[in-house]
Amino acid sequence: MTQPNNPPAKQPVTPKDAAAMILLRDPADPKVFWVKRAKTLAFMANYHAFPGGQRDAGDAGITILNAEDMPDAVMRVTAIREIFEETGVLIARGVEKITAERRAALRDEFHSGQIPFKDLLEREGLTLDASLLVETPRWVTPATSPRRYNTRFFAAWLPEGQETEIIPGELEDGEWLRPREALQKWIDGDCVIVTPIFCAIQAMAEGVEDFAERMKTTSQEERDHLERRVQFRYGVFLCPLRTPTIPPATHTNCYIIGGDEMVVIDPGSPYPDQQAVLDHVVARFIAQGKRFREIIITHLHPDHIGGVTHLAEKFNLPVAAHRLTAEAINGEVRVDRFIEDGDLIELAEGATGLTWRLRAMWTPGHARGHLSFHEERTGSLLTGDCVVGFGTVVIAPPEGNMNDYLASLRRYLELPRLTALMPGHGPVIADARGRIEEYIAHRHVREKQIINAMQAGANTIPQMVKAIYTDVPEAMHQLAEMSVLAHLEKLEGEARVVRRGDEFTAV
Ligand SMILES: [Zn+2]
Repeated sequence: MTQPNNPPAKQPVTPKDAAAMILLRDPADPKVFWVKRAKTLAFMANYHAFPGGQRDAGDAGITILNAEDMPDAVMRVTAIREIFEETGVLIARGVEKITAERRAALRDEFHSGQIPFKDLLEREGLTLDASLLVETPRWVTPATSPRRYNTRFFAAWLPEGQETEIIPGELEDGEWLRPREALQKWIDGDCVIVTPIFCAIQAMAEGVEDFAERMKTTSQEERDHLERRVQFRYGVFLCPLRTPTIPPATHTNCYIIGGDEMVVIDPGSPYPDQQAVLDHVVARFIAQGKRFREIIITHLHPDHIGGVTHLAEKFNLPVAAHRLTAEAINGEVRVDRFIEDGDLIELAEGATGLTWRLRAMWTPGHARGHLSFHEERTGSLLTGDCVVGFGTVVIAPPEGNMNDYLASLRRYLELPRLTALMPGHGPVIADARGRIEEYIAHRHVREKQIINAMQAGANTIPQMVKAIYTDVPEAMHQLAEMSVLAHLEKLEGEARVVRRGDEFTAV
């Protein structure tokens, strides 16, 4: 195989300024407040997070005491305004004079847009004070994310006499819990959080006193490392690597899973700079005393196997895949072991007594030999290219088959525990069942559109694509044609379509 050129990385999205508030209460037995984001949000749906949001144009006009030498004083205003908007908690000098009822009324007034935050504070005689907040390290969303924020995290104690109240909408609910309990929920797979939330909770679990100071001692090198392999679940690391994949995706997610023993799933990048990133991550795990058992391939596509041979040779690792995948890539990538539907891969960790139980599922449809893996302890599902973090999946016959694909999606829904989808591309999906159901519904809509197009006189595939994919740029029509063909093959199999040469008619 020839070495592909190293194309320049796509220009990452510019991060937007944002602030979040880590609210604490009960100093004698500290608890932290986190929220669950709504299912309907386009970004981080159903994730757990700290309340916060983007900087508002009006924030800069609000005075904040004790912030004279703080270059980002305005971000403290943003954090205070956001925590008021999202939880009703007002952190300001003079707030003790305001009753709970009055505070709730002020929030309603502010929410409905009747008064800017600045005017509200002035009218009520309230003053913001930076000394009421503690700053913890900022975090910039990794460059691979479709949306990026430069987020300042602040911590504050819940003011005397106040309570949090979530108005359902962008947030589903909120919860006070001990940092250790939050950490345990994460270990058990009961929440999906991003790295800065995890880092804060971990630091707080060791003691709320001075946690921000302890976080600041994390070296830049360590932070870069944390960014390169995002730990979405305990022992489940995601390492997005740039690959020659299909837009809107630019990266393929490589996963590293396990405890004392680990496996690497889909090291897909053929680019030397990306392979070097993964080499570094793997070498670091080995230096920590981990052992790598094998490399696993979900399916045959180049953006999932492009780095397999390099990694296998570098660390002397065997390669495992479904038999159909092994046959298809024979001569290109050596496969040492076949994985069948129902096979169990167990990876233990002595220190914690935890075991990762990866149950293989043969899920054809996107590709004949496609494998998914269900981590049974936490209910995490590695979906490969059956479900991805953004957009939909290409079903291109003859490798792709729509009937098989829908059957694979339905099999996902039968799993007893499903807490998150870890896709082959894009962000981790915390609304697992919702997304799968959405995918099935999307295919049903497409099928209906195809039948309608045929009834309206579009009988060839290019005609149908023109009629249906009005929202898709023409450059993508070739892929759309594949998808339409996959649907037509399914309909033909169900005797709902008759094919004559290149023409299809609905029965
Ligand atoms: Zn694929």
